[in-house]
Amino acid sequence: MLRRVALASAILFAATLSPLGRHIAADEPIIAGFSTESSRVERGWEDKFRAMPDQAKLREYMQRLSARPHNVGSPYDKDNAEWLLAKFKEFGFDAHIESFSVLFPTPKERLVELVDGGPKFTAKLQEPPVPQDPTSAQQSEQLPTYNAYSADGDVTGPLVYVNYGIPEDYETLDRHGISVKGAIVIARYGHAWRGIKPKVAAEHGAIGCIIYSDPRDDGYSAGQTYPQGGLRPREGVQRGSVQDSTEFMGDPLTPNIGATADAKRLPIKNAPTTTKIPVLPISYSDAAPLLSAITGPVVPESWRGGLPITYRIGPGAAKVHLKMFSNWDIKPLYDVIAKIPGSEFPDEWVLRGNHHDAWVNGAEDPISGLIAVLEEARSLGELVKTGWKPKRTIVYCAWDGEEPGLLGSVEWLETHADELRRNAVAYVNSDTNGRGFLGVDGAHSLEKLANDVARDIPDPETKLSVWKRWQLKSLTDATSDDARAELRTRSDLRIDISGGGSDHAGFQNFLGIAVLNYGFGGEDQGGIYHSIYDDFYWYTHFSDTDFAYGKALAQVAGTTVMRLADSDLLPFDFSDQADTVQTYVRGLQSYGVQQQNEIRERNLEIEEGAFTANADPKQKYIPPAKQDMPPHLNFAPLQNSADALTRASNEYGKALEQANAKGGAALSSESISQVNRMLIDTERRLTNPEGLPGRSWYKHQIYAPGVYTGYEAKAIPAVREAMEQKQWHVAEQAIASAAKALQDEAAQVDAAAAKLEKAATGK
Ligand SMILES: [Zn+2]
Repeated sequence: MLRRVALASAILFAATLSPLGRHIAADEPIIAGFSTESSRVERGWEDKFRAMPDQAKLREYMQRLSARPHNVGSPYDKDNAEWLLAKFKEFGFDAHIESFSVLFPTPKERLVELVDGGPKFTAKLQEPPVPQDPTSAQQSEQLPTYNAYSADGDVTGPLVYVNYGIPEDYETLDRHGISVKGAIVIARYGHAWRGIKPKVAAEHGAIGCIIYSDPRDDGYSAGQTYPQGGLRPREGVQRGSVQDSTEFMGDPLTPNIGATADAKRLPIKNAPTTTKIPVLPISYSDAAPLLSAITGPVVPESWRGGLPITYRIGPGAAKVHLKMFSNWDIKPLYDVIAKIPGSEFPDEWVLRGNHHDAWVNGAEDPISGLIAVLEEARSLGELVKTGWKPKRTIVYCAWDGEEPGLLGSVEWLETHADELRRNAVAYVNSDTNGRGFLGVDGAHSLEKLANDVARDIPDPETKLSVWKRWQLKSLTDATSDDARAELRTRSDLRIDISGGGSDHAGFQNFLGIAVLNYGFGGEDQGGIYHSIYDDFYWYTHFSDTDFAYGKALAQVAGTTVMRLADSDLLPFDFSDQADTVQTYVRGLQSYGVQQQNEIRERNLEIEEGAFTANADPKQKYIPPAKQDMPPHLNFAPLQNSADALTRASNEYGKALEQANAKGGAALSSESISQVNRMLIDTERRLTNPEGLPGRSWYKHQIYAPGVYTGYEAKAIPAVREAMEQKQWHVAEQAIASAAKALQDEAAQVDAAAAKLEKAATGK
């Protein structure tokens, strides 16, 4: 079959009625990846789609799904999965539940008490109901406050305050000559994923870890607390997983394979991702008596929180008894998987998902994102009933078990790894959603697609496009003239790298599937994260109260799914990606120079006696030791492969232009579909079967969550982390393997460009 296809967003002028009777504006650009005609048809379907998401329905879904606590293993978790299944079927999807069996510990015994150094005090470890908030009183169904996958333990030791408990905080402790060996540390939430805090504490010899929510970060210092405002009340506690997901994600007992009923499991006592020491989260009401009992040096200014006390480091007479024991049970997971089969390319899958499990009622996390998924599904189902036939298969997923460690999505993708590697075009994720600005992270080969979609969606509050608002917000947040100049001139806004924070992580890191992760936020006051107060009452009083941004999320993510499913040529673009990779390589080089400068200066100051001269001689102070100068690393392999990717992306851009220069070259759909198969494979080329050094589950060589940051992602992670840890030999090897992945991708993009050019020119 031959047809005329315009392959990029060349602006062709047309003033006509689309097949759906829609008037096409004279200057409306052709959607990237569509022909003149198919773009017109697509715009018609998209307009219909974007008019459908209904704020009243979004509200109704949230009320139903968050009506009772629905953590993994609870009756309402299963009930929700069955309700979701019925909904997808009602919308016309071919849907089923896929079940897995995973390790999910729940608390058996919890205790935090001050046994010495202050008035005897036992922490309440309990969030009280709020009278006007009906679901906050469902205490018999609420999971107690705890950190899942904490080690069991009963420990007593002196208490030491470690600020956020990240590696640099321990350097400050070293300067004060304070060790946490044999101590229980108390860290505040924030600045790193919570699982990093007990990990780093254990590495420094601590025997227990308490994590509390400081009012300065999400309590009364930041605004009115719940229920008068949206911020964390005195007794609010952040639950959460502390599983050491830096090694692998998903069920701790079945790394690399799906946790099916008959899967071979590690023994529970060897579960490698359990913490090394017991850990418990507490409220600031419970933390205040502990923190005020600490003696010893006053903390540096940046360590001060918002409690009306003098923050001190310890250790002193304050001694704490911490007890934490779990029921180590295997619990069922219920993933809901729903499909619309593709009419032309059923073996090319466009995936879209959000989790459905919560720590408690979870109206914000995750239901605010899940309801958008449902409204998209209902709207797409309606389109199908009126004749829309997506070319590719669309797979909608409602994951279970995200909160404990992305269990539902990771076990599913480990089970279906081979088919997904072959067939998955992209995965579009969302999680919590609120009022404000669009946030996007993901694969840079999809950066242009995300920008194009954002330009077409109106912002509910300002009536600008969500893209324009995103750009203007980025401008006011920018910290340099260069950054502002780029924001005004670069055609696309940069998207962030995806970290480990939600279900897209497994698709990206384990399988090398291009992902996009969307969510609105920035205008609501969030202090209820992972507490019993994250519920319908809170959400409808303090967040996206009229669900206008729920609708906007459905429009953004649904439009993305439609373009991926309907395009003639898949809307991957490599110019933004190549440009981004160049910034990564330059970033590593300048980091190397910065490391050298810092160590040189510090060594000089040590020789000059600057550290000791500036320290108060009446206080204990230990100057840092001199460090070896970092060697010059050879970044040439990375530079060469980044340049190869830049050249390949230019070739691909030229091939697109050639096709368009002919006003939409006559291309056989067969050759286009061959190019598409090559495009699907490009992100896979960035993986390496051996994975990253020391964490083989993480196959992607360009993106990964940081070992000491958790959620926060690192670019070219193996190189960056080896440099941070001053392992120069590892860094050299990591440069070689990242360079190879980039070369492989460049070769694939080159091949796709050649194929496309041949299709366009016949040469
Ligand atoms: Zn979530």
